[in-house]
Amino acid sequence: MLLAELVTASTRVAATRSRNAKVEAIADALRSAEPAEVGLVAAYLSGVLPQRRLGVGWRGLREVSQSAEHPTLQVAEVDAVFGQIAGAHGEGSVARRAGLVRDLLARATEAEQRLLRGLIAGEIRQGALDGVMLKAIAAAFDVPEGAVRRAVMLAGYAAPVAAAAMAGGEAALDTIGLQAGRPMRPMLAASAPSIGDAFEELGGAEVAIECKIDGIRVQAHKLDDEVRLFTRSLEEVTDRLPEVVEAVASLPARALVLDGEVVALRPDGRPEPFQVTGARTASRKDPQQLRTVTPVTPLFFDILHHAGADLLDRPARERHALLAETVPSQWRVARAEPAGATEAQQHFEEWVAAGHEGVVLKRLDSTYAAGRRGAGWVKVKPRHTLDLVVLAVEWGSGRRRGKLSNIHLGARDPQAGGLVMLGKTFKGMTDEMLEWQTRRFDELAVERGDHVVTVRPEQVVEVAFDGVQRSTRYPSGLALRFARVIRYRDDKSADEADTIDTVRALGGL
Ligand code: AMP
Repeated sequence: MLLAELVTASTRVAATRSRNAKVEAIADALRSAEPAEVGLVAAYLSGVLPQRRLGVGWRGLREVSQSAEHPTLQVAEVDAVFGQIAGAHGEGSVARRAGLVRDLLARATEAEQRLLRGLIAGEIRQGALDGVMLKAIAAAFDVPEGAVRRAVMLAGYAAPVAAAAMAGGEAALDTIGLQAGRPMRPMLAASAPSIGDAFEELGGAEVAIECKIDGIRVQAHKLDDEVRLFTRSLEEVTDRLPEVVEAVASLPARALVLDGEVVALRPDGRPEPFQVTGARTASRKDPQQLRTVTPVTPLFFDILHHAGADLLDRPARERHALLAETVPSQWRVARAEPAGATEAQQHFEEWVAAGHEGVVLKRLDSTYAAGRRGAGWVKVKPRHTLDLVVLAVEWGSGRRRGKLSNIHLGARDPQAGGLVMLGKTFKGMTDEMLEWQTRRFDELAVERGDHVVTVRPEQVVEVAFDGVQRSTRYPSGLALRFARVIRYRDDKSADEADTIDTVRALGGL
């Protein structure tokens, strides 16, 4: 398949707001792909590279001046070059990667170059997000959407699922299961403003209460002697966390998949602020050296596979019993089975006083809803926080001259579609954050006014605030009081941000 056909599909997706039209554009592209390429087509149209990261900076992408007049590049050829780029290691590899990118771009038309640049920089999120991709695979190969969703959650990505659907329809999708060694989408939690509300949301069922650890979500896979670790966004971090690898390797089970958090703890057992764990996990410096300064501890809360048996459809009660048999308590999240809301409230206060982020309440009869905000888990945090999307940003003044500073915050509006603005904030940002966001929002800019720069609404930011009030200032009719930035969330995409309904509920409005 010519890369140009993908450009056409991706242009059709970007040009329409209609979900159905997006689905149709992607389904057409999937149908016309060769069986060997259909996975790549699904991956590229989701903005994902099978190689994950190519190690090419955005500077390297800007340098090209040449372009081809006519499209000749094949999708499979592009994948082969991406494979070479990702595989370049060691001395001279930076220059070799840059050379490969330059040669590839020089063979592409201008429209193809835009697509390739976006793919390499990981910036294509034009609406071909999972929901649309799932529907497109279902439509292209006439298979039920539910079967596609299940398979994507268990396979981690759309690519192998598109290939299976094309090759063998629904029967082939059903053979896709959880595999030790291959990451799957983790289950997510709903949120409630208080313990009482959380109990209500869980419908009076028997629950466990667990400490909510403010670290990095890690899925640990063990198969014989090999251990692999993946983050929430399925990025592999095995090489960065040797002490976690050692802990998992020491467990007796032969095949194992565990779900949990990795966190830096102080010698007295209190968690370090999130930034410390985040910096350790993100750092590419020598992990053996880093672990001596900032050791991290795995705290697991779920077991998904054990010795050949998939546990996703077993009730949480049973999974936890097996977890407790398999993993010693120093590597498990603190947990209790409270008799009611009063007892749960006591645990909440105790754990928050011990420096933790909050709690997660879990129905004991719930299955593991891979990739979904399942009804079985509800988180409660002591302060109000929201994950919002940055819509625009203002140039700073005074000490912040030359920096993109005051960010405009939006929540999702599922009824109307799109995002609605709720406020602005320039509070809570560290100097590093200001540096980072100035670069980031410059890259995302779509309109550069003298004072306000409008950006593609892709960056999620976690903000704390003191309350929600009615306001005529913003189209949402709501405003946040004293919003301040806690951190940028690179593990969430805009379609996972909080909704205006959540904001209204938090304000009791
Ligand atoms: P949030 O990222 O704010 O949506 O909260 C959900 C996240 O809390 C999960 O994705 C986990 O990374 C994290 N978490 C921390 N402790 C737990 C726990 N005991 N159970 C489930 N998730 C937890």
